[in-house]
Order: sequence, then structure tokens, then C-alpha cells
Amino acid sequence: MKRNCTFTFCVISSLFVFIAVFSGVDTCRLSAQTTEGLSFGNQQLGEQSADDRKRLLTTDTESVVLKPKTNDSATIHILLLVDEKDHGPAGNGFHDYPLWQRRLAALLNTPADTDSKKVSVEIAWTWPSDEQLGNADAIVAYCYIEWSEKRIAQLKRYLHDGGGLVFIHSATWTKPGPVAAVAQVTGVGGFELYRRGPVQMKLPEPQHPICKGLPNTIELADDETYWPPVPLSDDAVVLATSREGKGKHGSTPEADQPILWCCEKGNGRIVGCVPGHCIDTFDEPDFRSLMLRSIGWVAGADPARFASSFPNPD
Ligand SMILES: [Zn+2]
Repeated sequence: MKRNCTFTFCVISSLFVFIAVFSGVDTCRLSAQTTEGLSFGNQQLGEQSADDRKRLLTTDTESVVLKPKTNDSATIHILLLVDEKDHGPAGNGFHDYPLWQRRLAALLNTPADTDSKKVSVEIAWTWPSDEQLGNADAIVAYCYIEWSEKRIAQLKRYLHDGGGLVFIHSATWTKPGPVAAVAQVTGVGGFELYRRGPVQMKLPEPQHPICKGLPNTIELADDETYWPPVPLSDDAVVLATSREGKGKHGSTPEADQPILWCCEKGNGRIVGCVPGHCIDTFDEPDFRSLMLRSIGWVAGADPARFASSFPNPD
């Protein structure tokens, strides 16, 4: 969209489309069966070799100088930022970033998307390279992020240049505690408490393009919330709240806490989402609509761009 499209990316994009068209993915219900083993280019997603992973983990270079942008309205470049699964053993469904990555990549490359030829999906482990930051229209992060001054500066530059960021669940939790400088870039600097269990998402901005046409309340059978945001930046628009009070290691006065928000920084757009602990949450149709629309919105595209199977915000 707003960013440059090199010949290499066009080739990669075309390859993704070819694979997507012939993979026969069902966009309404995506199961592990339909997505396991999908390969993109010469990479088997989530099954990189040790050498590949080492190479990907060393892409965090010292430079924050990115490539100059050129306008390209033909392709939306989406970068999925993930890490090794954490929070227990494989198969337990918690914080399964590689599985999420495979499923989302398949969704974004669905043949039901009439413009699927205009989407490229790439992955980055733990942090993007300068080249990936320079090419991405939307980064979708689902893993803990090890923040540093350098990374904050890189993200500021990326957003200033019109990049988009959707960060989900553990990506919104800063370790070892909230970081004010992160809030200046992402809208929230971290949280203090958490709770596992049913989550009732209330949507107070029904006219926002990400929420339009969706129910006022979305029920998640089992997930995890974080609160309170420390801090929530003044320019953040709260798109969903959850009633919270007692957490696992402390409590706050019962109140509606923000668990989905958006903001604009420079030319960039950001959506932060607290739910996402359980892989099944991403199969909840309305929650999935929120996520897919968020990706479209931060990329500067039609929010319904990747959610055509669900209620259209128009
Ligand atoms: Zn979690």
C-alpha cells in the first residue's frame, strides 16, 4: 500500500498466492487440519531449521536507518512477528505463536479474498530486520517483545513513515513491568494484573470501522485479561473493555478496563488487543473479525479487506 514493492517481494507475493489458491482453505472455519503443513516459499512455517532460526534471530541490526519509501498501492505487505511457543507444552493451546502464525497466514492468503493476489505475508522471529520494517504495511505481533531503546526508535520511525502495528496479548505485556516509553509508541506501556477465565468484551465504539456491524458484546469462553494499562496514552481510542477487579496476584476497584484500543502515531496506526491467550479464541468469529479488520485498518486498507466472510462495516 504505502510502501515500496521490490521485485523480490512481488515474486514472493505471487508464490504465496499460488499456494493459497491451490490450498483450498475454508475461510469460515480454519482448523489445524487445514493449515498444518502449509508451506510458503521455501519455508515450512513454524518448522524452520536451527540455522534458519539462528539467522532470523540475528536480524536485529544496529541500524535504525530504513529504506526510503516509494508509493505502492498494489500490494499489502503483512509481517507476522512471532517467537517460540511459551506457557506450557506443545498442544495445550496457550501462547501457540507458531500455530497462530500458520493459521493467520492461510486466512490472509485465502482464495475467497478477491484481491488475494495483492497480499504478501512474511514472518519475523522476535523482531523484524530493517528490510522487513522498511517493506511492511502491517506488523502483527503475537509474542513477548523484548523492548529496548533501539527497538522503540525503530518502531517510531516505522510508524512515522506510515506503518501499521497490531499487537496481541503477550505482545502488550511488557517485562519486567510497564514501560512509559512503549506507551508513547503503542498507546499502552504494559499492565500489572491478569486473570484467566471467561471474558466479556464490550464494544463502546460501534461506529468505528473496526467494530461496525459487530455485536455490542463478544463473549470469549476462556481467555486471559491484563489490566490496568500503565499508562494508556491520551490519544488511544478504547474499542473494547472488560469488567475487571480481582486478579491472580492482586486486585483493583471493579471497573471496565480497556482490552482493545487503537491510536494513530504520525502517519502510522496501531491496534492493541489483550485477549489471545488461547488459540481457540482466534476461532471465535466476531473476535476474528476484530483482528482481521484491525490488520486492514492499520495497513491503511479497507478494514473489511480480510474479513469478507463476516459482517461488512459498510
Ligand atoms: Zn497469556
